[in-house]
Amino acid sequence: LLNNIQQLPPDALFGIKQRYTQDSRANKVDLGIGAYRDDKGKPWVLPSVRSAEKLIHEDPNYNHEYLGINGSPELSSAAAKIVFGEDSKALQQGRIASVQSLSGTGALHIAAKFISSFLPGRSLYISEPTWANHNAIFKSQGVQTATYPYWQASTKTLDMEGFLKTIKDAPTGSVILLHACAHNPTGLDPTQDQWSDIIDAVASKDHIVLFDSAYQGFASGDLDRDAYAIRLGVEKLARVSPIFVCQSFAKNVGMYGERAGCFHLVLPEQENIDTAKVKGAITSQLSSLIRSEVSNPPAYGAKIVAKILNSPELTKQWHQDMITMSSRITEMRHELRDRLVAQGTPGTWDHIVEQCGMFSYTGLSPEMVKRLETQHAVYLVSSGRASIAGLNHGNIEHVAKAIDEVVRH
Ligand code: PMP
Repeated sequence: LLNNIQQLPPDALFGIKQRYTQDSRANKVDLGIGAYRDDKGKPWVLPSVRSAEKLIHEDPNYNHEYLGINGSPELSSAAAKIVFGEDSKALQQGRIASVQSLSGTGALHIAAKFISSFLPGRSLYISEPTWANHNAIFKSQGVQTATYPYWQASTKTLDMEGFLKTIKDAPTGSVILLHACAHNPTGLDPTQDQWSDIIDAVASKDHIVLFDSAYQGFASGDLDRDAYAIRLGVEKLARVSPIFVCQSFAKNVGMYGERAGCFHLVLPEQENIDTAKVKGAITSQLSSLIRSEVSNPPAYGAKIVAKILNSPELTKQWHQDMITMSSRITEMRHELRDRLVAQGTPGTWDHIVEQCGMFSYTGLSPEMVKRLETQHAVYLVSSGRASIAGLNHGNIEHVAKAIDEVVRH
């Protein structure tokens, strides 16, 4: 009965992790997975998280009861304020339905289920390239995917022309997935003017935007600046179409394994919509789909994030923590670029400092990436995406020399 089930190859990213773990070379460097490391190459528990955990454990009412189906309201309402802004008009008007999700992936999964149930037949447009899991998540729910051009390899810049053309050519009312900031894998974000043109193009075709917000606070260290695209979209598309936002706290709170996140749906501001009624209906449908999938979302990470977001002192510490992470990554970007330039490594390397967030699309070819791994024990994704968070003062010289060798080989 089960004999014909095919063995699949390991997941590309987790496969790298496996090979890295098995590698016995002392100078090995992991630039694969997108997880923050400190300057010693170690995972970092944010001081704001440590303080929140302490408070939670000291609480005499501490327990491990189930959350409700839609998760922690303390989390989802505070999370909405971060994304949309404290003074968001849409929030004040009660136009936003928010539920907790299993981190960003779970929020995307909710979006996929919602689209397949209530917006059937609409294609979802994703950037080329994008985070590998986007395709898999939407395909698994029967949502058709198509791509829009994003990265222009020859110039290492944004292919705005191709991007806008695809948005304009897409069937009216398509769903367009946009990375809110710190685009994965390229690290290349549109400028504020480019965002304006992108949102205008979306509005001209009554498309629906799905913002994937997995790195707020990681691109610039500033939550408001990193929410620029989302807030512009909410403002400009207010009279046009709903907006989905999939929010992850994996990276900006450093709680990768605790799976804290939220899914938000912004209703358009239209006279013919009974906002309270539609929001109630949508929330009930979200509950129903969450109930059959996970019954109720995980509590521990949600409690920690909610504690941080609802305490001014911990929020202040968290902002500092995000600056610590984003500025260390920026420092490593500059140091790598400077070393490559100083060595005279063939090619141009300014894109490494111009890109933002966790990743750099280095422009190294799959052959070079392979050689980096086999000859130098430096691991990155075959597309040439490097997780800059894996660099530190102890390994950057080795990495810079290794890149030099493979580029010249
Ligand atoms: N979207 C993007 C673009 C990502 O890079 C990631 C994490 N790599 C996610 C969503 C989801 O991450 P998580 O499920 O861990 O929150």
